[in-house]
Amino acid sequence: MARAPFEIAGAQVQPGTRETVEVPVAKLYTHTPLHIPVEVVHGRRDGPVLMVCGAIHGDEINGVEIIRRVLKNSALRHLRGTLVAVPIVNIFGFVQRTRYLPDRRDLNRCFPGSETGSLGGRIAYLLRTQIMENVSHIIDLHTGAIHRFNLPQIRAELKNPETARMAEAFGAPIIINAGLREGSLRAYADSLDIPVITFEGGEALRFDEVVIASGVKGVMRVMRELEMMPAKKGPKAPRKRSETAANSVWVRADMDGIMRPVAHLGQRVRKGQKLAMVADPFGETEEAITSPCSGIVICVNNLPLVNEGEAIYHVARFDELGEAEKAMDYFRSSFESEVAEEAVVPVHPWDELQK
Ligand SMILES: [Zn+2]
Repeated sequence: MARAPFEIAGAQVQPGTRETVEVPVAKLYTHTPLHIPVEVVHGRRDGPVLMVCGAIHGDEINGVEIIRRVLKNSALRHLRGTLVAVPIVNIFGFVQRTRYLPDRRDLNRCFPGSETGSLGGRIAYLLRTQIMENVSHIIDLHTGAIHRFNLPQIRAELKNPETARMAEAFGAPIIINAGLREGSLRAYADSLDIPVITFEGGEALRFDEVVIASGVKGVMRVMRELEMMPAKKGPKAPRKRSETAANSVWVRADMDGIMRPVAHLGQRVRKGQKLAMVADPFGETEEAITSPCSGIVICVNNLPLVNEGEAIYHVARFDELGEAEKAMDYFRSSFESEVAEEAVVPVHPWDELQK
């Protein structure tokens, strides 16, 4: 029996075809209608319906490029199931180059939303009723906030075995078994029992080639794991790609001042190890910021001007560092060869990591 068409926002996408659908979301006060563009690749054969979305925080743009490259992959011709690609969820924020909506709300705290609620609530409602509730799996693509650079990592609630399977398949070096934040797309999807993983990598308003390349690889690996794509020929990955941290810790500045980073992204640190120095402009008072635990540095704040209490480093906690280090070594060695071809930006943030 032929597969049914995929229905979205009044459109029908036939099996074996792909289509860009404009999901109407709002009108600007200029009277201009606003849409969330969605590309649906509807395979001929039954299978999972995977939503991959980016820029729910409007300034987190790496995911948009990750989705563009995934959609170019010629292997999609053999797709089993359906890929629902939503590169720009927060179109308001994307146009304004900001994380937030025009009413300054965070769209990723507005789920499940409502038809009659705030702007964010209405967009969340639209997204879930038009798209989310018709999919079986979700990958949500994020970056660090402005001036904060994230190591490629997966955040997921690993209690759900299907979620854990996706997290492992993605192959980012670090997985964090992260609790669900109320109002987030991830928490809502989880409440519907839809397996969902969040990819984090790079920083807001910047492209990063290593992050983009590892995001594209990750999405394709998850699709192969879900048997939406044929398995890759050739030898299996020689080692385990990812290591799971039980939790992670934000390390904050104890004083206002100017920060000099010491530890770099992806570095292994021990409890008590120096991460950065903070000093006043004359260097009269100076304090070291140290790591409260052993682990891997998964986020670095790139802005040297810090206030007391500001989050500066994020450390994934590993009491035993051996396996986490192996996952980092594997990541380093793999991106060196993989990044080159489609490079759109230099990889300077990673110079330290490559040494
Ligand atoms: Zn985000």
